[in-house]
Amino acid sequence: MIQRPRGTRDFTPQEMETRRYFENLFRREAELHGFGEIATPIFEHAELFTLKSGPNIIDEMYAFEDKGGRQIALRPELTAPSMRFFVNELTNFPRPLKIFYYGQCFRYERPQSGRYREFFQFGAELIGAPNPESDAEVIGLAADLIRRSGLANYNIRIGHIGVLRGKLSSGGVVPEEAAPILQKLDKRLYDEARPLMQEAGLSPATIDDIVSTTQIIGPPDLLERHSGEAIDHLKQVFAILRDYGITNVEVDLGVVRGLDYYTGIVFEVDAPCLGAEKQVCGGGSYSLTELFGGEKVFSTGFAIGFDRILLAIEKEGSTPSRNRLSAYVVPTSENMRHKAFAIVGMLRKEGVGADVDLMRRSVGKNLKYADAVGARHVIIVGEKENAQGSVTVRDLASGEQKLVRHSDLVQALK
Ligand code: ATP
Ligand code: MG
Repeated sequence: MIQRPRGTRDFTPQEMETRRYFENLFRREAELHGFGEIATPIFEHAELFTLKSGPNIIDEMYAFEDKGGRQIALRPELTAPSMRFFVNELTNFPRPLKIFYYGQCFRYERPQSGRYREFFQFGAELIGAPNPESDAEVIGLAADLIRRSGLANYNIRIGHIGVLRGKLSSGGVVPEEAAPILQKLDKRLYDEARPLMQEAGLSPATIDDIVSTTQIIGPPDLLERHSGEAIDHLKQVFAILRDYGITNVEVDLGVVRGLDYYTGIVFEVDAPCLGAEKQVCGGGSYSLTELFGGEKVFSTGFAIGFDRILLAIEKEGSTPSRNRLSAYVVPTSENMRHKAFAIVGMLRKEGVGADVDLMRRSVGKNLKYADAVGARHVIIVGEKENAQGSVTVRDLASGEQKLVRHSDLVQALK
């Protein structure tokens, strides 16, 4: 038997139904926020990713030489491809340009729960300006996507890379030295960050200040006690999020995201039920276009780990309300068959998910079938009721039955 490659998965029809449900839920939400979908190739020139993330990314990539001798990589993420696409073809589009994507990514990682070699990201990028409006718009989309998914327990933590960078540079630390320190701080590995900060020449007081800054986590009014450009920017982002009605967000000045290319806000979402692989979304503001040969343009974006969101929802036990089939229509006799088909045809035209007995079963067996396929209502088409222009509608969950006039049926089911 041939096995699938390590770290990959197959999906059953039931799993695909769930995945498609959430994909489309996310698509609709992104469109509600004025973002438009793009798609880019699954493979790119490997250089695209090394330019963005540095040569170390090679170890994480599925990279190979193609028959023409080109260095190719299966994409490990979609921000770099989106920005390449922007520089190649989208620079004349009106700004802000608001795009989103959904697709698989490949990383050569040690597979475990929530960590695969082939996984899916749903993400968005807003290309325009490095202002609080753009940042709030993007965080707002991430927050609404996750809320819409039905996940109950998660934390949205927002920081600004400028806070820690500012403290490091005013202590005399050059950017090359700052990067490894920030990476340790991001992972809250203080025992490893402290010696690096000492080597970089920071005083014990500055080191303590930096460590305690990374521990500022909580409601946005924590920012009132601090000042500076980055803090002001963050305050404005939180104010706009509040206008949007998004209040389930906290400040976390320890979010660094470990990568050099972030320029402003950085944010993460974690779902504690996932344990070690709990980060379900990461994002921030950055500028990459100049690396890919374009003019410098600021963007803000994020990527949601689609598989991790689904895992978390499953762990919480909240199954999606799919409501695939609203009505299952059952004729009580041979004479009523054509009336049943007519009702199904009418319901489908009106956008109500409906199905009908195709097996000429008894009413009792049809009720069982309707239950097994998850229909919400059974519509019983009997001769007596039909003569009065009505049908019986039975709610399968409650067992309640009522008589509904043909003309009121769509309304009653919607
Ligand atoms: P981690 O620290 O968990 O490795 P990351 O910082 O590498 O995450 P990003 O590059 O920011 O992750 O990707 C965005 C999101 O994609 C992550 O928050 C996570 O939910 C998801 N993700 C990343 N790598 C994997 C993977 N190998 N399998 C499944 N999901 C992943
Ligand atoms: Mg990773």
